[in-house]
Amino acid sequence: MLNGKTAIVTGSTSGIGLGIARALAQQGCNILLNGFGDRAAIDALTAQLAAEFGVDVAYSPADMSLPEQVSAMIEQGVQRFGAIDILVNNAGIQHTAPVEEFPREKWEQILAINLSSAFYAIQAVLPHMRRRGWGRIINIASAHGLVASTHKAAYVAAKHGLVGLTKVVALETAPSAITCNAICPGWVLTPLVQKQIDDAAARDGIPIDQARMKLLAEKQPSLDFATPEQIGSVAAFLCSTAADQIRGASISVDGGWTAQ
Ligand code: NAD
Repeated sequence: MLNGKTAIVTGSTSGIGLGIARALAQQGCNILLNGFGDRAAIDALTAQLAAEFGVDVAYSPADMSLPEQVSAMIEQGVQRFGAIDILVNNAGIQHTAPVEEFPREKWEQILAINLSSAFYAIQAVLPHMRRRGWGRIINIASAHGLVASTHKAAYVAAKHGLVGLTKVVALETAPSAITCNAICPGWVLTPLVQKQIDDAAARDGIPIDQARMKLLAEKQPSLDFATPEQIGSVAAFLCSTAADQIRGASISVDGGWTAQ
């Protein structure tokens, strides 16, 4: 379905981003991976994806908290592959604390990585997509882009902002074959969520398994995690022709979280 196309997936060395990179590669899409981690492990991942799916895979170590590195990553992708057809803004971090105690540097960092990087990447990639007359921009927001929880001021603000940015870009690209949508996952068991489970277990003095069930029971009526593979499949669907007229949407994959 995506043979010969190229995607940049930010934050794809782990978790949901990796699930999306795999799902797009499975459709024949070349991939520019991005994110942090051990360089040897990332090189192995790059080679493994290329071999498994027979696509061209490269890596950018760009730091999504730095605007110049975000735009440089897009240019690197264009140089390397000749075009960027699909941009998935996925890189994200979390920090939890009550508003009065929320560290200012964490606020700035979360806004930069979870929201501003998407703006800078979209700004850099759109001229290339317009030139080719086709594109897909997918922003990985969250259930927290639609509703709030306590102790997540920066994350909820950034994700609501990302949903808003998605709508504006969708409107500005509406007369073209470029679409922009958001995916809003509920709980997905990745390192980002495992840390919250570990913290809760330590705080409440309960076993990890119990903390995991408690986390689900609080928010996610299905009482089950969504998987990176499922989010990847939704991203691949948004790249298909079936999704040509899905524009500015926020697609929930949240086990019923926001239906409540
Ligand atoms: P994760 O921690 O497994 O992966 C995060 C990725 O982002 C990693 O590859 C990491 O290296 C990269 N990253 C972090 N800071 C970066 C930076 N400054 N520059 C470049 N890359 C950076 O987390 P995840 O759960 O897979 O989260 C991915 C996205 O999905 C995030 O935007 C997150 O907010 C969102 N999300 C996650 C869940 C969930 O339950 N896991 C739910 C809703 C939304």
